Amino acid sequence: MSPNGFPATVADAPRSVAPSVPVAASSGLPLADLGGGHAVPDDAQLAQLLSPRPVSHNEQPAAHAQDHAPFYFLQQDVPAKPASKAFGSNPVTSGSQRGTSDWFSNTPSPAGFGLPSEAELIALLKPAQFGLPSGSGGAASSESAAPYYFLEHSQASHSAPSVKHGQHASPPSWPGSHAGVGTARPPFDVNVVRRDFPILQERVNGRQLVWLDNAATTQKPQSVIDRLSYFYQHENSNIHRAAHTLAARATDAYESARDKVRGFLNAASSNEIVFVRGTTEAINLVAQSWGRQNIVKDDEIVISWLEHHANIVPWQQLCAEKGAKLRVIPVDDDGQILLDEYAKLLTPKTKLVSFTQVSNALGTITPAKQMVEMAHSVGAKVLVDGAQSVSHLRADVQYLDCDWFVFSGHKIFGPTGIGVLYGKEALLNETQPWQGGGNMIKDVTFEHTQYHAAPGRFEAGTGNIADAVGLGAALDYVNQLGIENIAMYEHQLLQYATHQLRSIPGLRLIGTAEHKASVLSFVLKDHKTEHVGAALAREGIAVRSGHHCAQPILRRFGLEATVRPSLAFYNNCADVDKLIAAVRRIQNGQHAI
Ligand code: PLP
Repeated sequence: MSPNGFPATVADAPRSVAPSVPVAASSGLPLADLGGGHAVPDDAQLAQLLSPRPVSHNEQPAAHAQDHAPFYFLQQDVPAKPASKAFGSNPVTSGSQRGTSDWFSNTPSPAGFGLPSEAELIALLKPAQFGLPSGSGGAASSESAAPYYFLEHSQASHSAPSVKHGQHASPPSWPGSHAGVGTARPPFDVNVVRRDFPILQERVNGRQLVWLDNAATTQKPQSVIDRLSYFYQHENSNIHRAAHTLAARATDAYESARDKVRGFLNAASSNEIVFVRGTTEAINLVAQSWGRQNIVKDDEIVISWLEHHANIVPWQQLCAEKGAKLRVIPVDDDGQILLDEYAKLLTPKTKLVSFTQVSNALGTITPAKQMVEMAHSVGAKVLVDGAQSVSHLRADVQYLDCDWFVFSGHKIFGPTGIGVLYGKEALLNETQPWQGGGNMIKDVTFEHTQYHAAPGRFEAGTGNIADAVGLGAALDYVNQLGIENIAMYEHQLLQYATHQLRSIPGLRLIGTAEHKASVLSFVLKDHKTEHVGAALAREGIAVRSGHHCAQPILRRFGLEATVRPSLAFYNNCADVDKLIAAVRRIQNGQHAI
């Protein structure tokens, strides 16, 4: 600690996500100006709203209310400012919560398919209930007598072992912690949030890192890093098997993570949550199990032009094997799904529709709920690729009514090598496993094997236990910020960045859909994309340049590659400004490339 009590190093930095005051109040903007009447804030307002608010050394941030009290959730009972009293006095009603949730879940609202109404914005931005548990729920010592899932054979008692305050970063879960089902949190302060991500302090090529490659992978908060470390220090064991304490702890931690995913997706049961390696593996699982068992010659599989190769190649392989046909929904010049064309593709031959909720190359948000309904109307099953949506929008699988939903942990602030296949329980249980081995069986003889019900039947062998637990910690982190708060903040930052990029001569934005998340693909006249990427990297700015594993959609725009900055909630206006200044220098020939 420095003499004034503020962190001297990153390691000392408070890692709270506690908002000190609501965003609107901290920016000095009247709430009604934030998109009220569907107006978008002007540049000055956006810059004021989004730019870093320097923490005065005379001002004790809420995050710092306690020495070594690093987590927001741990401070629930220690309001840092008298103003926080207001947080309890203005609950957001379930009605307005549904309204905001609808907007972020990509639902046509009465006002159209777009910006939230003034009332919805105010409901979002006004101080609301923290929605946090009182008491120590979930923070029991690992040595406590908390019952373990494995030893108790109980589905209900997944109380995550955790450690003493300050040692262990695994936030507790609490009933109703899923914001989409009745809680709301105050908006976050990006400066406080940034302190939770140690890598953002990293120096790259002599400059502080500006991480704008979030569509490729996201950075990890300290709570996730700590949770992984804690697992290997205190819980590591194989799961579901041995009758000893560490097996119980590891099993508990793993099953607790499954339940967190269930809550995060609003799935009906944790039996619907299968852990896999990532989105790619999840899609291949469906193609190689359900697909092989159900697709026959002349059936049709519909995908969209926006898809990542992971949502093209497995279906192509299946079609080649079965003699089925792949049909592709076209997009308009802004990169938006042409719903009329989609409707024409849907026939009784359509057995499966598989599409992304957010395009990784363009950022387009697809009208997922409507597309699912349309597919179901001809009896097709639907897979929604949530790889690019889960970290930006509410993913509510019951609301979407999709048959499968897939995502990767590393794109939502969790570890690599872990991901999720959600499937409706009956459908999963009708589907034969695609891999055989340990863990997925009830009984084996040389003549016959009896499989477990889902999810076990799809988790053959030893899975990625620690990283599943890490994913649970990442979802806790996102829940604490509140996905609606994240979506609101990112929406404004994306608008700010879009406006700035558009002002650069010779820059062409690729993907100009009305509804977008995170992604800002562009090409720069007379400059190769790889050179732009390399020049930015020399300034410590990480963006992706290339085809983004989505060649068909780039070719739709006559391109083989773009430069692709992509935003997450820890980015701020300063990051965008550095990007813009660097691109301008490249454009003006002031960069050696
Ligand atoms: N789908 C989309 C939309 C993606 O953006 C990605 C990765 O960028 C994938 C699928 C594949 O994800 P993973 O490589 O984590 O399996």
